[in-house]
Amino acid sequence: MIDAHCHLASEKFDLDRDQVIVRARKRLSAIVVAATDPKSLKKSLALRQRYPDFIHVTAGVYPRRAAEIGDEELKELWQAVAEARSELVALGEVGPDFYHTGDPRDHRRQLDILAQFMARAEAWSLPLVVHARKAEAAALEVLAGHKGSVLIHCFAGDRGIARRMTAHGFFLSFSPILLLSSALQEVVRHVPVDLILTETDSPSLSPRPDRPRSEPAFVEMVVSKLAKLLQYRLDEMAAMTAASARMFYRFTR
Ligand SMILES: [Zn+2]
Repeated sequence: MIDAHCHLASEKFDLDRDQVIVRARKRLSAIVVAATDPKSLKKSLALRQRYPDFIHVTAGVYPRRAAEIGDEELKELWQAVAEARSELVALGEVGPDFYHTGDPRDHRRQLDILAQFMARAEAWSLPLVVHARKAEAAALEVLAGHKGSVLIHCFAGDRGIARRMTAHGFFLSFSPILLLSSALQEVVRHVPVDLILTETDSPSLSPRPDRPRSEPAFVEMVVSKLAKLLQYRLDEMAAMTAASARMFYRFTR
């Protein structure tokens, strides 16, 4: 199984990152680390250098901050991303988050930055990881014309939006939200199984009440839930979701 999206560069892992990776390696075949600013990108690339056969890196912006980022900061980000380009498996996460701001100007800025990433992903032939929280329809409107692979990470939309996104061939990644939301459990039954990925989005969204900080190894709980919902064996579900992640991110190993 694969954790298709997490934030292993987070300072919440600073004290025991290597142990977290050791635990993940027991069950997972790969982790995709999403960098969200130049600093976390640098940290993520160093991790990849240490674990080149296990850790992969994407580069984007922290969606909650996207509306605040000035042009100068964005320029710096693009410079860092351009330098890292050959090391990246995708661009993102990037995209609108209407949950954290109701201001239409913020929404426009978030969608603008998404459009910038789309253009760059097309130019560089890289897949694009999209964040869309309470903003799935707005994201879809912008993404509809995108020429390239798209992953909607931490998908939590309804059945209608899932249908429209998968009709475009977009992959949907399910996080531990799946364990808590019976609505999402119903939605996932209608998603083409070959478009389903799994992730933790750790350190947030812990599926374990006793462990407030989530970690990549916990992706097994998502895979296991999917297996039950879709009536596969755990090993089958793990192999299928891992194959989809490998296809989306085009892992060469
Ligand atoms: Zn994330």
